[in-house]
Amino acid sequence: MLLKITTTHHPATDLGFLLHKHPQRLQSFDLSFGRAHVFYPEASVDCCSACLLLDVDPLAMVRRSGRSGRGLLGHYVNDRPYVASSFLSVAIARVFGTALAGRCRERPELAATPIPLEARVDVLPVRGGGGFLDRIFTPLGYAVEAVRYALDDQFPRWGPSPYYSVTIRATKTLAELLTHLYVLVPVFDNDKHYYVGGDELEKLLAKGAGWLAGHPEKDFITRRYLLHRPSLYREALARLVEEEQEPLADDEPESREPEPALEAAISLNEQRMGAVLAALRSSGARTVLDLGCGEGHLLGELVRDRHFERIVGLDVSLRALENAHKRLGLERMPQRQAQRVNLIHGSLIYRDRRLEGFDAAVLAEVVEHLDPPRLVALERVVFEFARPKTVIVTTPNRQYNVQWESVGADRLRHGDHRFEWTRQEFRQWAERVAGRYGYTVRFLPVGPEDETLGPPTQMGVFQRA
Ligand code: SAH
Repeated sequence: MLLKITTTHHPATDLGFLLHKHPQRLQSFDLSFGRAHVFYPEASVDCCSACLLLDVDPLAMVRRSGRSGRGLLGHYVNDRPYVASSFLSVAIARVFGTALAGRCRERPELAATPIPLEARVDVLPVRGGGGFLDRIFTPLGYAVEAVRYALDDQFPRWGPSPYYSVTIRATKTLAELLTHLYVLVPVFDNDKHYYVGGDELEKLLAKGAGWLAGHPEKDFITRRYLLHRPSLYREALARLVEEEQEPLADDEPESREPEPALEAAISLNEQRMGAVLAALRSSGARTVLDLGCGEGHLLGELVRDRHFERIVGLDVSLRALENAHKRLGLERMPQRQAQRVNLIHGSLIYRDRRLEGFDAAVLAEVVEHLDPPRLVALERVVFEFARPKTVIVTTPNRQYNVQWESVGADRLRHGDHRFEWTRQEFRQWAERVAGRYGYTVRFLPVGPEDETLGPPTQMGVFQRA
């Protein structure tokens, strides 16, 4: 079983510092179930690869023979020595423990810097089908490549095996990559070589901090990681839900920083707000929801216009709501005016009765902050349950990004964006949603329109039929 980690960061040989293993040496480590070897097949300034080769001793396994359930023959004849499994996780923690913890004495700043990384695993058992590879790795930002092997080349009739050579690529810190492998390899394998109890739950929550709670497959990952033990996974999932509320709330304002800066030159924010206000006014709406209101820029404009009688801003980020409260100066406002505005804490992926009975809802630069599987929940919350007469959605036009040197064609405008749509993708989404929930939709450009690329921001105005 082989794990190969490659970087093209410059100088790539810094990988040796990050892993605390010298690129010019072969090192071996004794583990309770066999030996681990670390070596570098390539170590140049442009590209450096480190390999972790696991030599699992099947006899040592039999002697330990804790949880097995493989039957007598299965004790001796099984795939364990050849596949990535919980043995690999243990080896990562033992051999690359410092890197896994994100520490590095020689290059502390590099340990905290996302660098281009690739990890290849030969071979990974994926129980339940290769579809899981994408479902698990893609939301974490990895590009996945996988080759599935036949059970036996000589007997094609036996069909495919559960074994894959898997390569994942992303720009991440090395600690993130190792942590994801550490947690997820046994999840794909759906097994563990040791007893799973309460410690394992704590380990999962610690190693999953910052990414597991928001993962669309967190149920699946948690159940499998805890070997389907109901008492453990129920508690883990309950605690993950608590966690999910918090980090989102805290992260948001910081990660929002670059967005306004980037767009400042053309004051796209103002143009967007103007376009939204115009659409709201022409819809005749008097009661308005600002969903994902952020720090309340639009709310400020709405309050100033007497025409709007009831204004509610909702956001998942408590910090954003606090800032909105300050920006609006709700305390200092005359009571009559302040009564028209309400800030509420909530998430757009859960049905919320407080959102019912409004004339219009605005989703300004919000949909792209949701993972695609959650977007489906948002669609129902807004169009099926809240069901205002008018819904205004603005979102970046990805095609326009090449116009900005600091973004370019391959990147998204903002670290928290989960996707950005081309004009066609937005149209397809909007038309599908409109058709499904009984709305019509028209599209309007926002900002200076490029002849071929279109406008920087796209807006859809949905009208209930
Ligand atoms: N509408 C504002 C803010 C856009 S930034 C503007 O145009 O300036 C996106 C906002 O959506 C953030 O404030 C973020 O906290 C919020 N958000 C992200 N996911 C959310 C969810 N599931 N429910 C509610 N708000 C969410």
